[in-house]
Amino acid sequence: MLVMMRRDATAGQVQAVCDAISAMGFTPLPLPGTVRTAVGLVGDDGQADGTHIEAMAGVASVLYDSKPYRQASREWKPEKTIVTLATGVSFGGDEIPIIAGPCSVESEAQIVAAARLVKQAGAVALRGGAYKPRTSPYAFQGLGAPALEMLAIARAETGLAIVTEALDEAGAERVAEVADMVQVGARNMQNYALLRLVGRLGKPVLLKRGMSATITELLLAAEYVLNEGNGQVVLCERGIRGFDGATRNVFDVSAIPLVQKQSHLPMAADPSHGVGVRDLVPAAARAAVAAGADALLIEVHPEPDRAKSDGVQTLGPEAFTKLVADLRVIAEATGRSIAGLPAAASR
Ligand code: PEP
Ligand code: MN
Repeated sequence: MLVMMRRDATAGQVQAVCDAISAMGFTPLPLPGTVRTAVGLVGDDGQADGTHIEAMAGVASVLYDSKPYRQASREWKPEKTIVTLATGVSFGGDEIPIIAGPCSVESEAQIVAAARLVKQAGAVALRGGAYKPRTSPYAFQGLGAPALEMLAIARAETGLAIVTEALDEAGAERVAEVADMVQVGARNMQNYALLRLVGRLGKPVLLKRGMSATITELLLAAEYVLNEGNGQVVLCERGIRGFDGATRNVFDVSAIPLVQKQSHLPMAADPSHGVGVRDLVPAAARAAVAAGADALLIEVHPEPDRAKSDGVQTLGPEAFTKLVADLRVIAEATGRSIAGLPAAASR
């Protein structure tokens, strides 16, 4: 942190700033210049909060030399983090895992059929919601605990890793008992109590960007999980609010390389919620892989038109199979590949 004094700041005002810095527990370092004086902080570990100094007499501005997030930053850890699930699927390397499945678990038959079809097409993890954060309280809220059992059955049948959402603190531990990866959804990205809890559950986390969240806010949300000792976090772009209702969200492809530049955490993309329109999902998915996404999350249902949630953005078996084939070509063109099932999980 560096405090820039006004050109006309008096010696007394500079001294008052130095005293304030000392009171914060740091050593002030006045740096007189030809035009103005700046005051640096010796011992600043990046956590100093200078908000109160900004308001002091004679202060022009306070500059922060590092990002507000720390453990999530490349500055903290330059090399990429590899997140590995119990089944052996890993995120952050050259291989790009595809997570796919229906928005909601609807029945054992549905989720097992979905698991088989996404595995056949090339996915390595099954995503299905047991607890659904729905905009309307009258919409299908998910089957709850029985759906977790159905997901476990689908894993036993196919060897796919299970990704499912923890909606609240009360249910998070139950979710973590079954899930190989715990999803924190867009609506909960800033639910700090939940983030702290999932940081302590000991399971890898898929943290989705809030629908109006900046990249800094996303990384600060990840910081909550990391700060509890859980470094196994995959971030996910899922579209942000725009002004045009023609698509559900604006899929922010630029967030993929931007986050990867700022953070060592793998950055996934969810083109399904990103655009929210079935016919547009493949193009957005291809763009995400071309932009360097470390994983994809795609909604797929054996019969999308009968889906209990998000059917309009859900791919059917044929479209998904075609998409994965196209993604292989794009991944290869970028020096990567679509991940196959780890040996231990393929059967
Ligand atoms: C979902 O993944 O089904 C979901 C509800 O996504 P989001 O939290 O991104 O809206
Ligand atoms: Mn959904």
